[in-house]
Amino acid sequence: MGVIGYIHSFESLGAVDGPGLRFIVFMQGCPLRCLYCHNPDSWNKENAGYKMTADKVYEKIAEYKHFIKNGGVTISGGEPLLQARFCEELIELLKKDKIETAIDTSGIISLEKSKRAIELCDLIILDIKDIDDEGAKKLTGAGIKNAQRTLEFTKEIKKRVWIRQVILEGYTLDEKKLARLGEYLCGFENIERIELIPYHTMGVSKWDELGLDYSLRGVKTPQSEEMDRAREILKRFEEIKEKVK
Ligand code: SF4
Repeated sequence: MGVIGYIHSFESLGAVDGPGLRFIVFMQGCPLRCLYCHNPDSWNKENAGYKMTADKVYEKIAEYKHFIKNGGVTISGGEPLLQARFCEELIELLKKDKIETAIDTSGIISLEKSKRAIELCDLIILDIKDIDDEGAKKLTGAGIKNAQRTLEFTKEIKKRVWIRQVILEGYTLDEKKLARLGEYLCGFENIERIELIPYHTMGVSKWDELGLDYSLRGVKTPQSEEMDRAREILKRFEEIKEKVK
């Protein structure tokens, strides 16, 4: 009998959260409050859609084993490392079956709690919300230092990492910040891929349903030319040029 995982939902065949076709486990509960969160219903751990042990989740995943053989499993959220112990148990089961595992995290959880799960999984997908600490605080409610410590730890243990950043006018769509981000990421040879994702408004209806005040109303989704320009700024750095997507 293992720990109970509080889970928001499952996606049996996802194609955007890591390499290849993947089974995605969305964990329930997140300490951040990102202004653009497209899953505000995942914030409160108590509102979990499912409460299951890792072996029950593993049984569910095993039905899709054939389809995800060239991909794997991504544990996402919410913030998966809020339930680090559950992540460890699930990854251990998947590893026995040689299924590749990824954790999609904001890096907000202290290393004291998250270290073991990070060590166990094959790939970390790390969201750098805003390279500027004050900007990150305004955007998410917390600074960026924990995410930086998480990234430094992945370097120490030579863990494969994909970086993600949502590009948002007034926050990360900023030439100086993008240059700072590029310079910072050059120090991590364990990073395989850097994805810039345009801000979108698909989660707004959920904020409305929950009676929450969506403060980014009226902020536009960046145009493809703006996204290209943002990527070009990162590509000026030789060390990461080929990794920027
Ligand atoms: S980290 Fe993810 S789940 Fe948590 S508030 Fe931000 S976008 Fe939402």
